[in-house]
Amino acid sequence: TGSLTVGELANKLNKEPSEIIKKLLMLGVMATINQDLDKDSIELIAGEYNVEVEEEIVFEITDFEGYDSEDSTEVLEERPPVVTIMGHVDHGKTTLLDSIRNTKVTAGEAGGITQHIGAYQVEVDQGKKITFLDTPGHAAFTTMRSRGAQVTDITILVVAADDGVMPQTVEAINHAKAAEVPIIVAVNKMDKEAANPDRVMQELTEHGLVSEAWGGDTIFVPLSALSGEGIDTLLEMILLVAEVEEYKANKNRAATGTVIEAQLDKGRGSVATLLVQKGTLRVGDPIVVGNTYGRVRAMVNDLGRRVKEAGPSTPVEITGLNEVPQAGDNFLVFADEKTARNVGEARAQKQLQEQRSEKSRVTLDDLFEQI
Ligand code: GDP
Ligand code: MG
Repeated sequence: TGSLTVGELANKLNKEPSEIIKKLLMLGVMATINQDLDKDSIELIAGEYNVEVEEEIVFEITDFEGYDSEDSTEVLEERPPVVTIMGHVDHGKTTLLDSIRNTKVTAGEAGGITQHIGAYQVEVDQGKKITFLDTPGHAAFTTMRSRGAQVTDITILVVAADDGVMPQTVEAINHAKAAEVPIIVAVNKMDKEAANPDRVMQELTEHGLVSEAWGGDTIFVPLSALSGEGIDTLLEMILLVAEVEEYKANKNRAATGTVIEAQLDKGRGSVATLLVQKGTLRVGDPIVVGNTYGRVRAMVNDLGRRVKEAGPSTPVEITGLNEVPQAGDNFLVFADEKTARNVGEARAQKQLQEQRSEKSRVTLDDLFEQI
């Protein structure tokens, strides 16, 4: 990011460090070999050798030092699993999400008003939490994965017991398999007379999902999203898988994560739901989100309450961004606002250029098509 030590600069210029130190002295700068040089000094020295400095700007947030840095195992702490619900249309995804939310979020807690922010967290037994992504259909997988974001730890595959495996069921299985995410099968609508769970088990066998009862390793939970029967078992199974997979994160670092959804609000401006994946996000943090940036002005949790901080696996809605980011964008907190702005602006600039070249390419293609 434009910073070099004297030694590194000497190396790049193919000169002895002592020579660079001398030059710096002549320019009135006292420096040692391991000293970081600012941009102006680098340019001055390079100019002495008729070398032009091309500033290297890092565009991908994921390339930033710190973004993906492996946290040593001692600093990792258990975090809630992040769960997505997938399945064929009308098999009961929305009903299940609502039902889980309503049984676990006490009305008093939410003050009667449940905020829709695209994700929510429930507390099961002994304070163990589960985060559910509430994004419609397969969006969480398709949009986000196409943008390289991986947010889901576990997929709940909803299959209606009276309907069986359908095209979107298969599609969902393929998405989950491609992402190497464990699948728990929720055999829904068990309250219906026509429910036939054996058929569901049979059909899913053909797609590599064999129930434990039949000697496989896929967890099947019969339930009714409508009556609520079996939902507690489903939640327990999610915690069981989480225990085996050991989802962990370091909460004591600059926050990073992914945009779940975002939109422009008349009164509040750019509003984005972020899933914090590592670190702790705090009000006031300078942040780069996709191609935009800002400072976290306010944070609201899934219960509509203002919060000051949010740790790993927590969804929060934030305001304070300059523009509206896109679902699937990464975010990263920076130590200072200036860096966040520089990175954000550079990324926006690059996106603009890409869009322009895309456009000119399209017109060229169009031209050839006409010939
Ligand atoms: P989605 O398209 O997967 O989100 O499905 P919905 O949640 O919208 O459900 C589709 C229809 O199935 C709605 O009329 C629900 O009331 C109904 N439904 C969902 N779950 C159950 C269930 O467990 N039992 C019964 N009888 N109906 C259900
Ligand atoms: Mg739905």
